[in-house]
Amino acid sequence: MEIPSELIPFLRSSGRIVALTGAGVSQESGLRTFRDPMEGLWAQYRPEDLATPEAFERTPELVWEFYARRRLKAGEVQPNAGHLALAEMERHVPHFTLVTQNVDGLHQSAGSENVVELHGNITRVKCSHGCGVFSEWEEIQGKAPTCPACGAKLRPDVVWFGEMLPGDELATAVQATRTCAVFFSIGTSGLVQPAAALPLLAKQTGAVLVEINTELTPLTPSVDYFFQGKAGEILPELVRAVWG
Ligand code: NAD
Ligand code: ZN
Repeated sequence: MEIPSELIPFLRSSGRIVALTGAGVSQESGLRTFRDPMEGLWAQYRPEDLATPEAFERTPELVWEFYARRRLKAGEVQPNAGHLALAEMERHVPHFTLVTQNVDGLHQSAGSENVVELHGNITRVKCSHGCGVFSEWEEIQGKAPTCPACGAKLRPDVVWFGEMLPGDELATAVQATRTCAVFFSIGTSGLVQPAAALPLLAKQTGAVLVEINTELTPLTPSVDYFFQGKAGEILPELVRAVWG
């Protein structure tokens, strides 16, 4: 991989960096992205058929089962070299914000501390009637568990298609984006709003945009630096070159 020589000292002297991550960062840990086909009996469904409030209303058991499997899978896998490199980057940058669309918690497992979860986290559930969020609950096979306070169904604490993002998280992400010197967009297709708008907001407010992805994305024509390849390979190399 060729790292443009001016980028190394620039990154080293950047006090404020934001990294936006997507499903591509967890792909090398063995978690599927939205584009990878689902396995087995799930192959007949599209994520859009399962990750919506309407789907939960219609078939709560099916949606619960889908998330129960994803939770199990996320608990079995390990952070990869990309997650670890981002945690390392945070140790060198005075103001580092990791904004993630992932719901698997792997950034935290890798040691990242300042993590903004835009789409929630599958390890938590919340009452579908709004009583609150629970991180511990009893998972009963094939059944959506109920809220200890009101008896309504519990649901994963994630943002489904058509739902609003958690306001505090979005505000924190926007604030960090507006004030950063460098903005990384890593392993995200840039199709899911409003997260997809953050890189362009960073650019408008003067940040240098860096993208890491195995494929070109709608964002690619707007970035200053594009590294094509796997996050688990590019990130460690970049971190080593700049702060190693
Ligand atoms: P996406 O699936 O739409 O896009 C993934 C992107 O990653 C693609 O552009 C792909 O080219 C790229 N990619 C794949 N492997 C890569 C690798 N090894 N290194 C670098 N790039 C790689 O995912 P998204 O943009 O995050 O948005 C879709 C939604 O999916 C989000 O809302 C997110 O909450 C949800 N989601 C989360 C997880 C997770 O938590 N692990 C998994 C699937 C989907
Ligand atoms: Zn309740």
